[in-house]
Amino acid sequence: MAGEPQDDCLFCKIVAKEVPATVVRETETTLAFRDINPQAPTHVLVIPKVHHPDAASLAAAEPAAAADVLREAGEVAAQEQADSYRIVFNTGSGAGQTVFHAHAHVLGGRGLQWPPG
Ligand code: C5P
Repeated sequence: MAGEPQDDCLFCKIVAKEVPATVVRETETTLAFRDINPQAPTHVLVIPKVHHPDAASLAAAEPAAAADVLREAGEVAAQEQADSYRIVFNTGSGAGQTVFHAHAHVLGGRGLQWPPG
């Protein structure tokens, strides 16, 4: 069922604490942890605890949880003292999405180019 934990989902396993992660913030609805392959001095993933395959389907099904992810992305940036930062939602394999549980990349701590590659 939409939103329920998926047995084959890595990020559901991180939420369940079955897979370790370096957690930097946690709320009732979200978890924020450091990306294991950081692309910037600050590279934190913010995920909803509920399972939806990407950000848009999360927002369609559970808009409050999507808002929580965005708010927490800002809290992570503040905690990391990143006054300029980028929030990225890769959506679809052609855009680089590899984990099909909605997540925001919060990138900061260096200059960021535009457009992204
Ligand atoms: O947008 P995309 O789906 O590619 O993002 C998934 C991210 O999850 C990658 O940046 C990858 O480094 C990260 N990851 C992680 N911990 C894991 C597995 C993947 O931080 N155990």
